[in-house]
Amino acid sequence: MFKLSLIALSLVIMAGCSTGPQDVVANATKAMGTENLKSIEYTASGFSYSLGQSPNPNAPWPKFNAKSYMRTINFETPASRQTLVRTQFENPPHGGGNQPIVGENTQTVVVTGSSPWAGQADIWITPPGFLKGAAANNATLAAQTVDGKQYNVLTFMAQGKYKVIGYVNTANEVEKVETWVDNPVLGDMAVETTYSDYKDFGGLKFPSKIMQSQGGYPVLDVTVTDVKTNPETKIDAPATAAVVVKSEKVTDGLYFITGGTHNSVAVEFSDHIAVVEGPQSEERSTAVIAETKKLIPNKPIKYLINTHHHFDHSGGIRPFIAEGATLITQDINKPYYEKAFSMPRTLAPDKMGTKTATMETVADKKVLTDGKRTLELHLVKSSPHNDGIIMAYLPKERILVEADLFTPPATPTTPRPKTPSPFSTNLAENLQRLKLNYQTILPLHGQKSTRAEFMKWIGKT
Ligand SMILES: [Zn+2]
Repeated sequence: MFKLSLIALSLVIMAGCSTGPQDVVANATKAMGTENLKSIEYTASGFSYSLGQSPNPNAPWPKFNAKSYMRTINFETPASRQTLVRTQFENPPHGGGNQPIVGENTQTVVVTGSSPWAGQADIWITPPGFLKGAAANNATLAAQTVDGKQYNVLTFMAQGKYKVIGYVNTANEVEKVETWVDNPVLGDMAVETTYSDYKDFGGLKFPSKIMQSQGGYPVLDVTVTDVKTNPETKIDAPATAAVVVKSEKVTDGLYFITGGTHNSVAVEFSDHIAVVEGPQSEERSTAVIAETKKLIPNKPIKYLINTHHHFDHSGGIRPFIAEGATLITQDINKPYYEKAFSMPRTLAPDKMGTKTATMETVADKKVLTDGKRTLELHLVKSSPHNDGIIMAYLPKERILVEADLFTPPATPTTPRPKTPSPFSTNLAENLQRLKLNYQTILPLHGQKSTRAEFMKWIGKT
């Protein structure tokens, strides 16, 4: 305690006796010209990276060209709209995030005051947003030297719960902001943003270089080219999609669980159930579990089969573990999930809590059988989408279950791509190598399909 007090005291002295946290905020606000800033719109370009879509658990997030990146923020409502136009960067395509992008792909993210913190954080970690947050939330101050540079470090708790730390340099510029957001896979996930090369944009000092990392890897690296102060902002609240679960009996004891953007498949065995995929989030998986129990009553969910580690396919693993299921995943994911499952989860505690996961792994092939029904799991070798992606095959039923390698066309008249996706052609090669005699495809995105439709889609007819 004594030691801690000494450190605290020395920090106050270093920061200057007469300078309190609100003085630092006021000085930076004045220097940056954000006093009367109610809204902002900035345009940038550079690179973006797709969080949670790495080609394997040890790789950074895949990179895209950010052809244009525009943020409009109203600090008063608060609200933010981000429009990102991406083009393909990775060559050849490797990893997820809608690769390969043919032409352009536009992503729009809208955040309002009722959005979860993971979205709202985006507003309060911008330099003006940080100063407004620090002014409104009783920020504390400490002096810190990083790499020989002195900083006034301001910390505040947003919504009384979420820690936000900003580093103000001697030029009164917000140089770095750190916070943590809850992520279904990584728990309390670090979000670190650095702002540099401040320039004067019509009286407002704003960084011309923005770099952000999430979960330890870059997600954004852009150069700001234009900033508008106090523009008219019209940001409509995003449509909130309720979790909807539908299901379809494919054959006895086999159900296709749909209703959202991500599907699951429930497979009944003599005394238990295996579910392929716990996608997205605790909310989605909880609904999938409830539907499975309704369809197949009085049997435990013994296995949850995870096709690959991408966040949208692994964000709902934990509720299945809480339910008592053993996780089956490819070899490459085991150390990664062990680490991810033990990360702190203070921001959004979940049902699994500190429960230890039981895991079984698949190398090239694993067979689940009760003597009557057989479910084979196969590694899709050399998949450009993911290095450890597995598919499921029911030989007797002639059914294939796959994720992200073939997403069936929305309608039978949807024209097939000029060049088939390398993810799909690689899947076809694997199916041929393994001589899997499938007829029906249950994709984990999109609607039920057939071998004929898949062949047509990749130009094999
Ligand atoms: Zn994927």
